Amino acid sequence: MDEKLPPMSMYRILDFLEEEGLVHKLKLANRYVACMHITCDHQHEVPQFLICNECFRVEETAISKAMLDSLKGNVKKVGFELVSPQLEINCVCGDCR
Ligand SMILES: [Zn+2]
Ligand SMILES: [Zn+2]
Ligand SMILES: [Zn+2]
Repeated sequence: MDEKLPPMSMYRILDFLEEEGLVHKLKLANRYVACMHITCDHQHEVPQFLICNECFRVEETAISKAMLDSLKGNVKKVGFELVSPQLEINCVCGDCR
């Protein structure tokens, strides 16, 4: 079984997984990460990703409703509209610090 999937179908699978909320696509890091809440019952909050600049480790945390509202307010103020509230933040992790 060393038959390789054509790249396009790989993207389609990832797109599907993203729609299902099983993976998240990180634009900044240009990669996918598995959702940390796949096995949770609670509702998935708006994810926020902390990305280590050194080792590219990703931590998924959730942004609070209040923070999201204030973010939306800021976006509206300058006449923009929020398309995706997913936040990707440049960090340095504990191991790399
Ligand atoms: Zn998630
Ligand atoms: Zn959870
Ligand atoms: Zn690191």
